[in-house]
Amino acid sequence: MSAAAYLIGMNLFPTSPLERTTLSAAAFERLISNIVQGKWKAGEQIPTERVLCQQLGIARNSLREALKAMELLGMVDSRVGEGTFVCPRSEFLSRPLLWAFTGANQHELKNLLEARAMIEADLASMAASRATVPELRVIKGAVSLMERQIAAGEPVLESDLAFHQAVGEAAHNEVLANSALLLRNMLKYWIHLKLMAPHICVHALERHTEIYEAIRKRDVHVARELMQEHLDETAVQITQLTSGRSASPKNHGKKTARKRPPRSKPA
Ligand SMILES: [Zn+2]
Repeated sequence: MSAAAYLIGMNLFPTSPLERTTLSAAAFERLISNIVQGKWKAGEQIPTERVLCQQLGIARNSLREALKAMELLGMVDSRVGEGTFVCPRSEFLSRPLLWAFTGANQHELKNLLEARAMIEADLASMAASRATVPELRVIKGAVSLMERQIAAGEPVLESDLAFHQAVGEAAHNEVLANSALLLRNMLKYWIHLKLMAPHICVHALERHTEIYEAIRKRDVHVARELMQEHLDETAVQITQLTSGRSASPKNHGKKTARKRPPRSKPA
């Protein structure tokens, strides 16, 4: 019998907070290794609490603490009545930041949109010089998928994000690509809202098509400019969506490209 199981068996465990923290931390490490080592794959349901408690030799409280920590990190998602599922890798670490921005004011949102536009413009330009033929196909695939989804009247959030992800990957700089991914995750809710308007989807598709063409033609300058314009437009659209809730619309329509964020009063 493990020391933990022994403690639980002796019912000493709940009275010892220090032990419990240690056990939660140990359980956390074991649970995470299942995901990191690929034993539990994205989208899969993880074993039930009862089974995990047995496997790890810990009490339910410790397990729940460990699972909560994993949920905060965006590694698992627990759905009421269904169980706990492994999140896609793109969600990892996005949630604490996402939550920090849940009450984001207009100023913070603007900074996020601006940072995203700058990084993704660079990524598009790098993709134009570095994309391999298979990577070009993936970018094109995301454009075609969005086209089909618009024609079918389906939501386009995933194909929109897939396009930006594919461009990021084709840039061959993981640090920048991951930064962009993180920013998109933080903005996901707003991107989703923006794409609810059909005319915005059609326009985004046109932009994606143009950006893809520029990358395919290896035109680093045009690829950068088009991505910057596309994301500046996105920033304006999102700002318009949110302005009704909290802030004044005085900056609408202005380009935000390559400017320092305003340091004075938030909008
Ligand atoms: Zn887009």
